[in-house]
Amino acid sequence: LPSPKPMIAGNWKMNGLKASAAELGQIMAGYGADLRGKVDLAICPPATQLTTFAVVALGSRVLIGAQDCHAKASGAHTGDISAEMVADTGATHVIVGHSERRTDHAETDATVHAKAEAAWRAGLVAILCIGETEAERRGGTTLSVVDTQLAGSVPEGATAANLVIAYEPVWAIGTGLTPSNADIAEVHAHIRQRLVKRFGAEGEGMRILYGGSVKPSNAGEILKIADVDGALVGGASLKAVDFLGIAAAY
Ligand code: PEP
Repeated sequence: LPSPKPMIAGNWKMNGLKASAAELGQIMAGYGADLRGKVDLAICPPATQLTTFAVVALGSRVLIGAQDCHAKASGAHTGDISAEMVADTGATHVIVGHSERRTDHAETDATVHAKAEAAWRAGLVAILCIGETEAERRGGTTLSVVDTQLAGSVPEGATAANLVIAYEPVWAIGTGLTPSNADIAEVHAHIRQRLVKRFGAEGEGMRILYGGSVKPSNAGEILKIADVDGALVGGASLKAVDFLGIAAAY
């Protein structure tokens, strides 16, 4: 498989009201033919805006994703949203295993594994997050933590088309801190090697996004690191000018 086309995905977290569709409109307006040829863009709004965003983005080639889904297709799970419901809005992607879900909702690798399978069952692309905590980084166990997360949360059947990995060091999310370029390169190369070992040529084509305090001013240097196939962006995805500024690093 050829080198994957990079993706910049925006995770809006618990931000965004009806009026935020205007920001999406600006992202669409700035996503011209030149940029479209170079990079895929995805926005993951809160669930309340998913339908609106999917309708607004229709035909624009900006991809829309959810931030989470339940593993089951339907049933007695008050407050949850299934992958089928996400797909029904017109969204095509879903983030699974974000560190905030792992922390706030005690999601384990097994939970994330089931959610990735649910995403595929509904025809969605899973953007699956992994990454070490600050204590794990300091303890020197980053690579083994990533190995455990990959082994436990990535199901059989992963392909370059249905899975995007997001490497997000937990200590870099929303903190303004980022690993050194050498550290990002080391982890991404390691993840690539693991994916290729398990999935062969498909693993070569899977996108591995970096996430954690990416902004326009550091995107250029991060996005040119080998095996960094894009970024998952939190805070800086909320403003069209910043989000497009990151994409423009390509
Ligand atoms: C994220 O939550 O996925 C993220 C990377 O956040 P931020 O860019 O704000 O660090």
